[in-house]
Amino acid sequence: MPELKTLPQRKQRCAICERKVFARYWGPSEASWGNSAWPVVNEGRCCDFCNWMVVIPARLAPMIASK
Ligand SMILES: [Zn+2]
Repeated sequence: MPELKTLPQRKQRCAICERKVFARYWGPSEASWGNSAWPVVNEGRCCDFCNWMVVIPARLAPMIASK
């Protein structure tokens, strides 16, 4: 059985939970949808949920620990 060819697409999945990021974020460039997943994932975008629940706490943790 031949493998189905997928249309060329940019990554559209959250790099953390792998949910599809909402279509409203799709746009002409990589930066136009989702949120940066750094520092949890070096390269990739994440959904709003993971941004607030995973990425932002991960950014804040070193600041809190250093106090
Ligand atoms: Zn996510």
